[in-house]
Amino acid sequence: AEGIRAVLSGDVDHFVRDYAFPTDRQQRWFTVRVSSTNDVGGGAVISHLDLTALKETERRIRGDHCGISTLFDESAPIFALLDADGTARYVSPSAAELFPPVDGAFGPTSLLAGLEPGQRQQAEQCLQRAGQRTGSREQLVIDVCDTAKRWHTLDLTVCNLLDDPSVAAVVLTGSDITTVHRRKVTRHLETHLLRRLPAAVVVTDQRGTIVYWNDRASELYGHRADEVLGTHIDELGVWPVWADGSEPGPWAGDHVARGRDGAALPVHATLQRVEDPETGFSGVVGTSIDITERRLLEERLDFEARHDPLTGLLNRRALVDHLDGAIARAGRRGGGVAVLYIDLDNFKVVNDNLNHQAGDEVLKAVSALVESALGPGDVLARLGGDEFVVCAEGCASIDDAVALADRVIAVLRVPFRHHGLGVVIGASVGVTFSSDQSLAEELMRDADIAMYEAKEGGKGRTVAFDETLRNQLRRTRVVTAQLGAALDTERIVTYFQPEVDMDTGALLGFEALVRWDDPGRGLVPPAEFVPLAEESELINRLGTTVLRDACRALRHWNLRPGASRLKVAVNVSARQLHAPDFAAEVLDIIGAAGVSPRQVCVEITESTVADNDMAAAVLGVLRAAGVAIAIDDFGTGFSSLHRLQRLPIDDLKIDRTFVSQMLDDNGSRVIVSAVVGLARSLGLGLVAEGVERESQARALRALGCRRAQGYLWSRPVDLVAATDMVDRQRWAPAPDGG
Ligand code: C2E
Ligand code: CA
Ligand code: CA
Repeated sequence: AEGIRAVLSGDVDHFVRDYAFPTDRQQRWFTVRVSSTNDVGGGAVISHLDLTALKETERRIRGDHCGISTLFDESAPIFALLDADGTARYVSPSAAELFPPVDGAFGPTSLLAGLEPGQRQQAEQCLQRAGQRTGSREQLVIDVCDTAKRWHTLDLTVCNLLDDPSVAAVVLTGSDITTVHRRKVTRHLETHLLRRLPAAVVVTDQRGTIVYWNDRASELYGHRADEVLGTHIDELGVWPVWADGSEPGPWAGDHVARGRDGAALPVHATLQRVEDPETGFSGVVGTSIDITERRLLEERLDFEARHDPLTGLLNRRALVDHLDGAIARAGRRGGGVAVLYIDLDNFKVVNDNLNHQAGDEVLKAVSALVESALGPGDVLARLGGDEFVVCAEGCASIDDAVALADRVIAVLRVPFRHHGLGVVIGASVGVTFSSDQSLAEELMRDADIAMYEAKEGGKGRTVAFDETLRNQLRRTRVVTAQLGAALDTERIVTYFQPEVDMDTGALLGFEALVRWDDPGRGLVPPAEFVPLAEESELINRLGTTVLRDACRALRHWNLRPGASRLKVAVNVSARQLHAPDFAAEVLDIIGAAGVSPRQVCVEITESTVADNDMAAAVLGVLRAAGVAIAIDDFGTGFSSLHRLQRLPIDDLKIDRTFVSQMLDDNGSRVIVSAVVGLARSLGLGLVAEGVERESQARALRALGCRRAQGYLWSRPVDLVAATDMVDRQRWAPAPDGG
């Protein structure tokens, strides 16, 4: 109203004012424009213009403007306006985070508080200088720790604009260069590292031109970087393939590179295509490491894998390979290959009587002697223990091979001297000659069989594998198959031979003895098939069958009061003791039958445990569980008394041969009485086997042996007959009253 009056009175020419006009739906805006019309006779023109839309737009733009300033604040975050003394007039939010207020105030103290002492002094001086001189400009790079305990590298500028009227302040601006800085360091490290990497790094462009060559590449290949940069990678022969883009994926593997002087360099290389969008580079990066040492190690391991460490001769695996090659060569020649299987005769004597080292010396000497007997191209291998094999390509026939074997036996017939002890080692040799279709393994097996034959026939001999042996082998295979079938069909049955107390005539128990009940052949004795079963895993199945029968019989007999005192002994072969979990399986079977381990005895021969700690350990486990252990056929082996005393055993079973001859042969009687004394002094039980006559029983009793087995009382009988014997016993009440 005042404005209108002023225009009407002629004080002003015109008057404009925006005003708000609230309606019930929205705030509207108008502009009132008053213009004098005095020049045309007085008065004024008043117009009201609706400005609402305009105002809206303006408001929106203002808002955007706010947004822009915030944005600005974020991209150049560090900003402060200071007085000459450093007192802050304005601090941007980001600056406030990096330089938090101290005691509620921003100022020189807060600006410097987060700095490390060295940089603090520098910054303080910089601020002072900037405050003192108008127009001055200071640059400063510092590290500060923010409120979140993270370090930042800041690039700060302090400008004294005190005399600029539009600013009138010392302006501090800055940017956070942490990531940039870090990237710079990383890049430096990368190139530096790449250069010094312990791997040879070579980079080519897409055409294969070398563009990078690090220090290690110079060392490895012998070319300096300045010599090879710009040349084509193929000219140097340092990569296995040049990945010219036709190779899709990366390549990695071992290859032999060429060095400067053309020397072969075994390396492990990795080639990889790279595309770097930042620089537009595309090419191949290759890294190679020297694997000379690894190769040497591999070669050594390979040598060790193929050679016997003691003698340096080929081992079994390598021999089989060699033999395969020899057979192929002979096939092309139209000839054959001879194989000699050599087994030393008296090596065990050396090993038992001298020390281990002496044994090793003998084996080395033997290998040298045998080699001296061989012809050129003949190869000697050691299979382990005292077994050697010769692959003789120089032999034209089996007769040549036998002659060669005889020469080998002759050179080994000389005595070895060791610490005053002379031992003639000697050897038995089996020989075979290949037919065109022979396989290496077959030849070795045939020669092995012939060698066995040579041993059986009295050692120190050569036996050639022939038709008779081949037929025997064939028969062995047939019988083995039949035995397996017999086990499947329960044709393997268990017989029982009683053990008695000669003083009282009481039944003490039984020995379980296996029989093969063959529909065609009748009852086959164990001597005809147990040795065969021992050649394979069949012996384990056979042993399990007998043990299971024995335990079932015990359970059956245990139903009679007092009969639980009975024991059953089972025979166990060496091979069974070597089966994993043998002890656990025995205890399982005993447990499953529900009988006591104390009713079971395991019989093993002297040789089985003679120098076998593993076997002794297995027996120890059984004995700890209550199972009795007996040494069978005692007196026929060579047990050292020292070892006998340390073995986990309960009984000795004196061999039948001594018992049968004790009345006629003084030597046997002496042995029997010695064994009786030995058992007594070692606190072991003693059982005499094979007692057939009253006179033998009397003699044994006179020597102090009470327990015995033999035809005098009973032959081995089947379960029904054995049960009958148990029933005929008049059982005295058991000690436990059961
Ligand atoms: P061994 O353990 O020495 O068994 C005693 C052998 O002597 C038995 O022969 C038995 O019948 C026989 N014998 C017993 N009393 C007399 C006698 O008064 N006079 C004569 N001349 N012989 C008598 P068998 O049953 O033929 O067994 C022979 C061998 O077979 C056994 O000798 C044993 O080494 C083995 N064997 C038997 N059964 C098994 C078995 O289940 N497992 C294993 N691994 N071997 C077994
Ligand atoms: Ca026995
Ligand atoms: Ca025996």
